[in-house]
Amino acid sequence: MSLDYVKFSNGFEKFMPKEYRDMVEHGPFGKKVSVSQMGSFKEVLEEHPMCAGCAMTLFIRLAMIAFPNPEDTITVGTAGCGRLAISQAAIPFVYGNYGDQNGVASGLSRGLRLRFGDKPKDVVVMAGDGGTADIGFQQVLHSWFRKERFTTIMLDNEVYGNTGGQESGMTNRGAVLKMAPLGKKFEKMDMLQMAKVAGCAYVATVVPNNPRRVESVIKKAVLIAREVGSTYIQAYTSCNIEYAIPTDKVMEDAKNVENDRYQFSEYISDEAKQFLTERYGYKEFLSKPAAPAPGLPKA
Ligand code: SF4
Repeated sequence: MSLDYVKFSNGFEKFMPKEYRDMVEHGPFGKKVSVSQMGSFKEVLEEHPMCAGCAMTLFIRLAMIAFPNPEDTITVGTAGCGRLAISQAAIPFVYGNYGDQNGVASGLSRGLRLRFGDKPKDVVVMAGDGGTADIGFQQVLHSWFRKERFTTIMLDNEVYGNTGGQESGMTNRGAVLKMAPLGKKFEKMDMLQMAKVAGCAYVATVVPNNPRRVESVIKKAVLIAREVGSTYIQAYTSCNIEYAIPTDKVMEDAKNVENDRYQFSEYISDEAKQFLTERYGYKEFLSKPAAPAPGLPKA
């Protein structure tokens, strides 16, 4: 996939569907767009079959706007609600079946490096909490230990939404669900800590109601994964169906959850800080000059 591949062959433009022509002419390919420009360009994900008000779809939409090079990005997913939207986007999607998404992404990422050398070809895994922390857990963890150079994003809706409400490893202790009527007996898995222990160069938590922050963490994670190593983002993307959150309260719920148990956190290794600063001009990681000692005149 590259910008050249989506362009029309000479003479074919008038035969292409309007959606396709809009994507080539007004899409984000080959441009730098940001969430603040939403509405002024054609997004790579506009239509999807997910439930009305699902927070996951907003997050996926924002994440895809934030990809540094959508024309050179491949997403990998697995069974679950998220892939219903991800597979509708105008960027290539690979369906890793039942939890093998990080194994698929490992091979894909290595193959792209061999084939295209230094030209960045980003691989981004987007899978639910069941696919990441339960069914695909082994492959996720080992891809991190191997420092595979791609980003893993967990769409954490804290339930198996796609199959009707079973508890997952990421469900909170005590949560009562349709198919967990007695309440979950165990703690939510600490995947953030596991990602750090396994050596991820960048780990962040985020919620979808802060678009600029979503954009910022996705960009950093994808850029760092290009050269430094594995990166992990855990996004709270509530399931309004299984948690009975009224559609018009989904963002309010996200805000409350962010203030309570899903506060923004960001870990970045020293190597990744240096990489972002030197390669991409990030100034936020430059060390600050030491403040003068009290009582001493300023130099
Ligand atoms: S079941 Fe839940 S997570 Fe799945 S699409 Fe519907 S609201 Fe979203």
